[in-house]
Amino acid sequence: MTLTSILFTLGSAPMFAARPFLAAFVTALLARFGHSIPYLGDREVIQVLARAPEWFTSNTSLGVFGALAVLEIAAAKSAEVKAWMSEVDSLVKSVVALVVSLAVLDPESEKVIKTIDKLGVFSWSFSGLTAATVFGLTMLRNQIVELLNDIDQDDDIGLQTLVNWIENIWTVMGLFLLVLLPILAVVLSALTALGLWLARRRAERKEEESKVACARCATKILPHATLCHACRTPLEAPRKVGVFGTPKAEAAPDVALHRFELVARKRCPDCASRLKKRQARQRCETCNRVTFESPAEFEAYLQALDRRLPKTLAICFLLSAVPLVGVIPGVIYYRLTMITGVRGYIPPLRGCTTKWVVRIVNWGVIALQPVPLLGATIVPLMCFTNYAIYKRSLSGRVTGEFAEAPPKELTA
Ligand SMILES: [Zn+2]
Ligand SMILES: [Zn+2]
Repeated sequence: MTLTSILFTLGSAPMFAARPFLAAFVTALLARFGHSIPYLGDREVIQVLARAPEWFTSNTSLGVFGALAVLEIAAAKSAEVKAWMSEVDSLVKSVVALVVSLAVLDPESEKVIKTIDKLGVFSWSFSGLTAATVFGLTMLRNQIVELLNDIDQDDDIGLQTLVNWIENIWTVMGLFLLVLLPILAVVLSALTALGLWLARRRAERKEEESKVACARCATKILPHATLCHACRTPLEAPRKVGVFGTPKAEAAPDVALHRFELVARKRCPDCASRLKKRQARQRCETCNRVTFESPAEFEAYLQALDRRLPKTLAICFLLSAVPLVGVIPGVIYYRLTMITGVRGYIPPLRGCTTKWVVRIVNWGVIALQPVPLLGATIVPLMCFTNYAIYKRSLSGRVTGEFAEAPPKELTA
């Protein structure tokens, strides 16, 4: 165990918190082939890594890490897998970091896993510290990612894709930087962790600051809520809800309609808290209200969405009339106004099959967009078909849910 190996394991913690298998793969590649890369080869970090035990740099390890890294990158693109992974995320990442740091820290022992008792207590406690750092960073990272997902839940403006790519590139580049300038990389890693923490604090504070006091009980409530979640007093003038579910400056003109607007942005119709699940009927975590209490309420919601359709189609038509360039703003526009309100309530698996039907329809239609005149009808056509497909999928689900006995978490 050397200072260089300590710097490497600590400095790589943020990379393991982002993409553990990709980080493990790049580390193993550097350990095995690093010495033959010009300029990198004679770096101290490479020499330390080159002493890693054989099992770590074997073809099998490289193959397994490589395959898992590919899966990891692919999985980050899927909301379904991500939701599932978030349960075990911190643990998996810490274990990967633990195994890799043991390999890097204690090159003398040949088979790390089998000779645990022969390893120094110091290496073990240090690897434990690295794993704990990765654990903490992962929790922090997941909170930030969740906030970004909240802003752009269906990746309509590509925010999630952007974050994914930043994480992939950062993991690989960060490890190379660790080889070249270990101290600088460690400082940058620490600054990244601090930056993430500050970003989370800022987001929390911003939401707190936007809250207003209830006229009756002075509980702090969101300004676009319709009721106080503590005493159920209606707000005098709830503010409008923006496309990303945040409150706007002006008041909502029609409170009954505003309640549906909130639901369409995945917010509770009473207290405007975020509805976290991709499930039609769910209980609000803040005020306990169940979305879509009756079939009639669900029908009224769909009708409120339907009323938006003519205006959306008209705007899509105008945008679509611009060859090529008009497609992207048109698609973003109709997805934000029409699709989020239905797709956000369809559970992942169902959303998955529906998503493919929608994609195939879209590909067929989009090929015709550059054709003059015909082109102007393409985006409205996509909007109309996509909305119809998702609405049908959601309706089927909700009708089924009302027919069954209500699940325990809704009656509680
Ligand atoms: Zn109140
Ligand atoms: Zn609520």
